[in-house]
Amino acid sequence: MQTAICPGSFDPITLGHVDVITRASKLFERVVVCVVANANKKTLLTLEERIDYVRRVTAHLPNVEVDSWNGLLVEYAARYENPVVVRGLRAVSDFEYEFMMALTNKKLDPRVETVFLASDEKYTYLSSSGVKEIAYFGGDISQFMPAEILADLQEKIDRRIK
Ligand code: ADP
Repeated sequence: MQTAICPGSFDPITLGHVDVITRASKLFERVVVCVVANANKKTLLTLEERIDYVRRVTAHLPNVEVDSWNGLLVEYAARYENPVVVRGLRAVSDFEYEFMMALTNKKLDPRVETVFLASDEKYTYLSSSGVKEIAYFGGDISQFMPAEILADLQEKIDRRIK
């Protein structure tokens, strides 16, 4: 069985992420969303919160599982028989980094393929950092976020601002 791994920080998961995960779930038998701990990035949400949010918004997708990892992605991918890393591409600005990561991972483990899904045009502008910035300044983030986590996230951000 081919397993698609969707790795990311998901700080927080947005409708853009959900779109990529949903489309991957139609292309692959099994999808594992891998929430990466990533010590180099300062996150708004804890790893547990990010995992919980991803679980809540993907609960309706039967072939999608949620996991987490703190380490090299290729080492995580190696536990699956035919791993394919799926990443979303929004714009040319994403390309350079994503291309470099895909080639690096391939070098580290030639079995790990990377596949890119073009972002839906509705979400090309959307990023977790953009959403956080809007929320910090009191803007309405409801059109960017999955309904299942919106209230919790808003409350968390409001508490941080006060
Ligand atoms: P990372 O810190 O690894 O970049 P992110 O959580 O920011 O993690 O993103 C995870 C994946 O989701 C990446 O492949 C990213 O390009 C993709 N992604 C993020 N936002 C969108 C979006 N609006 N549309 C499509 N893909 C997206």
